[in-house]
Amino acid sequence: MSEQEISMAQHRRITGRLVIATHNPGKLAEMRELLAPHGIEAISAGELRLGEPEETGDSFRANAAIKAIAAANAAQLPAFADDSGLVVDALDGAPGIYSARWAGEGKDFMAAMSRIERLLQERGATSPTQRKAHFVSALCVAWPDGHIEEVEARADGTLVWPPRGSAGFGYDPAFLPDGHDRTFGEMTSIEKHGLPPLGLGLSHRARAFVKLAEICLD
Ligand code: IMP
Repeated sequence: MSEQEISMAQHRRITGRLVIATHNPGKLAEMRELLAPHGIEAISAGELRLGEPEETGDSFRANAAIKAIAAANAAQLPAFADDSGLVVDALDGAPGIYSARWAGEGKDFMAAMSRIERLLQERGATSPTQRKAHFVSALCVAWPDGHIEEVEARADGTLVWPPRGSAGFGYDPAFLPDGHDRTFGEMTSIEKHGLPPLGLGLSHRARAFVKLAEICLD
């Protein structure tokens, strides 16, 4: 067996039904779309009336695993979860795993972006090199017998102010991906997330999904 065949053999393939451990309709629709070409039937945590575990992990990877394992145990089916966020170098990695929480109950991402900008200004981070940031996406698939598969990917860029564009969500309008002159908020969904056969998108989630497909999907 070649080295590649040995390393592939250690991974478990996803077949048949898969629970998507999210209550977010946007994420569910995106994951259904990505999984459909691989012959996977995606069932949502909402349809199965599964609860939402507390995200008590100290990393994206740990939180994705908490969500996937809880759903796999509750549904007795393989389950998929993701966790993501924005990591700002000059803020020692904040907001990181607290990216959603920085927007508060009202999901006010303009307020969250303003908070980041205020902190960057306080630290004198005005040049592009002082304003480096990256998005991270951690994906986890857990099986009821305890097996898990995990992948992680990132998208590197710079934070701009004021935010630009109204496409996308969250921190997209403030994030200028490396090598581009438009923010994620100014890009179409295909430019940001595009996947084969459309070409690999720039986003952390698209890149993580491609990694997962390579090891776990037919
Ligand atoms: P969670 O993965 O649902 O815990 O939340 C991730 C949070 O990170 C989102 O609410 C957004 O604030 C932020 N985030 C993650 N991915 C992106 C992205 O692609 N664009 C903009 N914001 C993102």
